Amino acid sequence: MPRRPMMAANWKMNKTVREAQDYTAALLPRAADAEEVDVVVFAPFTCLHEVARMAGDSAVVAGAQNFYYEDSGAYTGEISAPMLLDVGVGAVIVGHSERREIFGEDDEMVARKTKRAVEADLLPVVCVGETKEERDAGGMWEKVSGQVRRVIDELEDAGGESVVFAYEPIWAIGTGDTATPEDAQDAIGKIRDLLRETRGDDFAESVRILYGGSVKPENAAEIMAQKDIDGALVGGASLEVESFVELIEAAQNAVAPPE
Ligand code: PEP
Repeated sequence: MPRRPMMAANWKMNKTVREAQDYTAALLPRAADAEEVDVVVFAPFTCLHEVARMAGDSAVVAGAQNFYYEDSGAYTGEISAPMLLDVGVGAVIVGHSERREIFGEDDEMVARKTKRAVEADLLPVVCVGETKEERDAGGMWEKVSGQVRRVIDELEDAGGESVVFAYEPIWAIGTGDTATPEDAQDAIGKIRDLLRETRGDDFAESVRILYGGSVKPENAAEIMAQKDIDGALVGGASLEVESFVELIEAAQNAVAPPE
C-alpha cells in the first residue's frame, strides 16, 4: 500500500476560538477536495474541542501540540491522552524542537510520550532535527539517528502506520531558510534506511516521514516530489487558510496530478 501524504498545520501559540472556527469552516470543503491527502490541524488546547467538533467525520483531523504521558493526577498544567481523546483529538505532536529547546524535553520524555500516544491510539508526529552548529560540524546524522533510535526502541511491536516522523532541521524552522529538497530527501531517506535496518521492510515502508522548516506554497511541490518525503509539518504558512490549502493541493497533485 502506498503511503498516504499528510499535510499538517502547526498553529503553535496562535488563534482564538473564533479565529479557529473561521479557519476550520473555510478549510473543511477545500480539504475534502484533496481526497488523497490526510489533513491535520495542530491547534492550541483551547481551540481543540471546537476544531474537532467542526471537523466531525470529515477528512480533517484535530491534533494537539503536546500532552503528558500519565493519564491523570497531580501534574498541574498538563493534559493527558484520555483528555485529548475525550474532545475528539486524533493526533499529537511529540518532541517539537520548541518543546525540546524552550521546555527542556529530552529524548527519554519524547520516547515515553510517543509510546503512550501509540497505546492510546493517538497518532504521534515525532519531531527530530539538528541545530545549525550540529549540521556545520558534520553531526546531523549522529543527532537525528539518536533521536529516531530512542523512539523506535520504545515502540516494541507497534506497526509502522501508528507513528509519523517529522524531520525538522532547527535552523529551518520559522527562519525562511528551507533545507534544499535534496538535503531534506537525504536526511529522510537515511531515517527510512534506519527504520529498515532496525524494524524491517514492512515497518520502514509504512511509516510516514514529513519534512518541516519554512515550507510554503512556492517550495511545496519540489519537496513533495522527493521519493521518501510523505508530506509536511508547517508553521508560519499554515496560519492563513489560503496558503495552507495551497500546500494541501501541492500534496494532492504530487500523488494525483490534475489531468
Ligand atoms: C514548525 O513549527 O514545525 C515549522 C516547521 O514551522 P515553520 O513552517 O514556520 O518553519
